[in-house]
Amino acid sequence: LGASGRLYSEEDPLVILSSDSLKPTVTNSSSAWLLQFYSSWCGHCIQYSSTWRALAHDVKDWQGAIGLAVLDCAQEENFDVCKEFGIKFYPTFKYFRAHGEPTDRGTIYRGADREVRSVRQLMIDILQNHTALDRPESCPPLEPFSSAQLLPLLGQRSDHYTAIILEEPDSFVGREVILDLLQFSGVLVRRALSSDLPLLDALNIAAFPSIYLLHPNGSHAQMHSEKRLRFFFSSLLRTLPGVQRRRRSEAAQMGALQDRQPSEPWRDFDRSKVYTADLESALHYLLRVELAAHSSLEGEELQVFKEFVTVVAKLYPGRGSVVKLMETLSDWLLSLPLQQIPYQAVMDLVDNKMKISGVFLGAELRWVGCQGSRPGLRGYPCSLWTLFHVLTVQHEATPTALDGTGLEAQAAPVLQVMRRYIRTFFGCRECARHFEQAAAAGMEQVKSREEEVLWLWNQHNRVNARLAGSLSDDPLFPKAPWPSPALCPACHEENNGVHVWNQDNVLQFLRHHYGAANLSPRYSL
Ligand code: FAD
Repeated sequence: LGASGRLYSEEDPLVILSSDSLKPTVTNSSSAWLLQFYSSWCGHCIQYSSTWRALAHDVKDWQGAIGLAVLDCAQEENFDVCKEFGIKFYPTFKYFRAHGEPTDRGTIYRGADREVRSVRQLMIDILQNHTALDRPESCPPLEPFSSAQLLPLLGQRSDHYTAIILEEPDSFVGREVILDLLQFSGVLVRRALSSDLPLLDALNIAAFPSIYLLHPNGSHAQMHSEKRLRFFFSSLLRTLPGVQRRRRSEAAQMGALQDRQPSEPWRDFDRSKVYTADLESALHYLLRVELAAHSSLEGEELQVFKEFVTVVAKLYPGRGSVVKLMETLSDWLLSLPLQQIPYQAVMDLVDNKMKISGVFLGAELRWVGCQGSRPGLRGYPCSLWTLFHVLTVQHEATPTALDGTGLEAQAAPVLQVMRRYIRTFFGCRECARHFEQAAAAGMEQVKSREEEVLWLWNQHNRVNARLAGSLSDDPLFPKAPWPSPALCPACHEENNGVHVWNQDNVLQFLRHHYGAANLSPRYSL
């Protein structure tokens, strides 16, 4: 991670966009753009950042023809622009053609895999998707040249080298080398196909890919390369006498585009408490950001949202004003005969209610127990886990709370609502996919309210185990089996020298830890 604590830093050869710079960058740009809209709390995005960074290094000399950029949708200042660009899930990849209109919101790329090589090839496809008229000015032709175009060059004097890469039709090496040499003067790179027999005959080429060089003085010969690989070809050409890197004015402009985000001061807190600030921030984020990505709610989405609001209204053990707000929202949603509700109508109701009662859901997110040691770590996903642990524990403590809602008929209603919420709305799609797999594998077996509490605890520990040591792991809060021996010594035992959980004691601990009496309304210790 970079010094700023974000997933990407100034040292990475990519552009870090913000709400202010996104449109000016992609509108009427002389180059095409490939953007990753990510969320700094999305574990998958965090893990993927090393791939994206590797890609940025791999194609850094392609800037000018096609640029790579990122935008963090978890930053409050970017909420609106992410919504405007229709970003619902993270990461979302969008590309923008060169010379795009101001109304262009980009085209989503859903690739089978997102490894460096595949995305690099996608970038070439994007460039080739331009016509000769709207192609980025600095991008040389990427289409193959024919023997009719190339053979007349043989023996001619010139002020530069011309390199011809001869390759199979499905090879990307030629186009990659063309782009690798974009920032260099003194050499033109062309590609030609192995099917062009007159050319192969004239140049006496039989293996592919090969590289053939026309010198400025008119002489020409095949170049010897240890390996027939892009890196070898590009290096050979870059080190030819007289071939030089162009001065890059763009590099300076890139720096000006980096956005900067002040980080919140650290507040000490007690790890044995649950903070209402985190729970309310979870609701704030969920209502104002996660839901806002859906301009209207209908069908399954509307149903899931109603259920979620009902569960919170019935089980939330925090401030009465929050409960009141959720009750009002729930009554309103249930009374509406509509099949489709605009998101804005939901927000109007929340805002009106807040004005009347004068409380709840301030204009900002405030993490306490879910603070990260750096911006971009913990926050929302931490608070969502916390919220659902609190709700399962409260359901166990108040067995009749869901009576009359229609939800009580199913086993493990809180888990089922959580499952549907995560599946329908949770922005981190990779997380949602994992959670759905786990739910499909084991949630049906949960029969009692106690099991409901324990299932979520166990599932959360499985996720912790999977993520331990990954990039989303906050060094101050390393993922480990929870509760730790320090928090709950009675939860841990040994059986024949092997660690085992004492599940009865774990349940007791969870009841206490996530119970109403352990909620702290404070913002620090
Ligand atoms: P978190 O794991 O968010 O935990 C928050 C707090 O809950 C901890 O500080 C601790 O006090 C308490 N806690 C920890 N373990 C338990 C437990 N077993 N039972 C009860 N309480 C506990 N990220 C990915 O990279 N990949 C994924 O597939 C993924 N799936 C997710 C699925 C869901 C449903 C959610 C809500 C999040 C998912 N995440 C995933 C995010 C990830 O789990 C963390 O939430 C995130 O990395 C922040 O970690 P954290 O250190 O704040 O601790």
